[in-house]
Amino acid sequence: MTVRVRFAPSPTGYLHVGGGRTALYNYLFARGQGGTFILRSDDTDEARSTEEFRADILDGLRWLGLEWDEGIEAGGPMESYRQSERLRRYQDVAAQLVASGRAYYSFATPDQLDEFRKEAQAEGRSPAYDGRFEPDPAEAAARVAAGEPATVRFAVPRPGETSFEDVVRGTVTFDHVQVDDFVILRSNGTPTYHLASTVDDVDFGITHVVRGEDLLSSTPKHILLTEAMEAERATYAHLSLLMGPDGKKLSKRHGHTAIKAYREEGYLPEAVLNYLALLGWSPGDDDTLIAVDGMIDRFDLSTVSKNPAIFDTDKLQWMNGVYIREMPSEAFVVAVQPGVEEHLGRSLDDEEVATLAEIAPLVQERTKLLTEVPPQVAFLFADIEYDENSWDKVMTKEGAAAAVAGAAEWLSDVDYWSIEAVETALRAMLEELEMSARKGFQPLRVAISGSSVSPPLFESIAALGREESVARLGRALELMT
Ligand code: GLU
Repeated sequence: MTVRVRFAPSPTGYLHVGGGRTALYNYLFARGQGGTFILRSDDTDEARSTEEFRADILDGLRWLGLEWDEGIEAGGPMESYRQSERLRRYQDVAAQLVASGRAYYSFATPDQLDEFRKEAQAEGRSPAYDGRFEPDPAEAAARVAAGEPATVRFAVPRPGETSFEDVVRGTVTFDHVQVDDFVILRSNGTPTYHLASTVDDVDFGITHVVRGEDLLSSTPKHILLTEAMEAERATYAHLSLLMGPDGKKLSKRHGHTAIKAYREEGYLPEAVLNYLALLGWSPGDDDTLIAVDGMIDRFDLSTVSKNPAIFDTDKLQWMNGVYIREMPSEAFVVAVQPGVEEHLGRSLDDEEVATLAEIAPLVQERTKLLTEVPPQVAFLFADIEYDENSWDKVMTKEGAAAAVAGAAEWLSDVDYWSIEAVETALRAMLEELEMSARKGFQPLRVAISGSSVSPPLFESIAALGREESVARLGRALELMT
């Protein structure tokens, strides 16, 4: 058997971190088994599906590196991998199921169903609808032929139960008393999720359905439908839900939930992927850092935890910092340059890129998000604006002006411009003024970068160059005196 799995997002929202994890586990399982990873679009909800969400999901998957083998934009043996283009097929299956007696036309009104549910609840019976208000098949057929609108419901066999071995959760059993005669086709001819999803899983030859736990209670319906279609049921694996650190269902209160937001905030796809992998799975030892090839080698669906996974943005951010520190310096420059250029509103010339490269390793060491970098290094490439807080705290102190004046003088005298020479000159200046490094260097930092938070001082001055450094010291001095 060749493994065939699918990721089946609905384009009714941005790619969610939970969706990212579902896609990743499908991908890892497929790659590890030499199988096929399929992307389909569950876009039957026309009102809520948008082109923007469709594009975001594809972009997000590609950004994470989760390339699919078959499906949307990749093509494959099926004519279409969009549910909105397969409506005829769903209608045909519904008609076949009615013909074989596994489904029926339903005319029950919402009021009738409502009353039935209320009554059942009041009497402590299951509120699952069992078709009690429906006419016999001959009358139903006549009414449909006469043009009366009807939904199509699946006739759940009762008594009975559906049981399956979930790869993550073990044996799961649903008594059919609890399962509604669920609608498969609406009166306007559109399929419900249950019908469209099951028909696709059958037609696409899906062997393993790996998806979120929120769909667990749909699975008996899908199995009943699959068997009514005389197809073989897939193996199911339901992944636990994601929670925030407070143990509540993950929501925007806990931080961003869209993959896109992490991308925009300066996360590396490798770090996000690594973090997503650990939400319910562990490579088996203390190795929290693992690249995708290692994941593929070691991923085992049957060791995925059924306990809720905690999504902790602090941990993700920590992991991102680790990945940033591990990047080759050249790659770091390439990664931050577009952000720096956007911040400045212009592109950097070759000399400026060299300056960025010079300072990059020092910034890289302390960066957790790529978006922190542009404001920190912009002082190298543009006129500075003094951060008001930094100015008030540092530049009004006694001795600050003397340090700035002293630095301008000492730096003007440096023979051979280098980081070491800058440091030697500035330390000599401190000695001459009998000042501590703390007291003497903070004003220089503000004068040079505009802020008391900046990359290391000597390196910043060295990268900025003598002329510009001395000019900035002079300008600050003018404002101070
Ligand atoms: N389209 C469904 C969703 O976005 C998932 C369908 C499935 O995996 O069966 O939640």
